[in-house]
Amino acid sequence: MDERRGRRGGFDRGPREMHDAVCADCGKETKVPFKPDGSRPVYCSECYQKHRPARSPRRY
Ligand SMILES: [Zn+2]
Repeated sequence: MDERRGRRGGFDRGPREMHDAVCADCGKETKVPFKPDGSRPVYCSECYQKHRPARSPRRY
């Protein structure tokens, strides 16, 4: 019997698919690893730094 199970795989999906998007802040074209559905703003990498949730701003 030649049982060859050398190939372990199934989780290799290749490179992550990038989608074109426009930054909601500066209007620059960018690419995001998810499909923008329009329900939430998309930011470029620069603006994402500004808009990402801070640890706990606690500014009310
Ligand atoms: Zn931007």
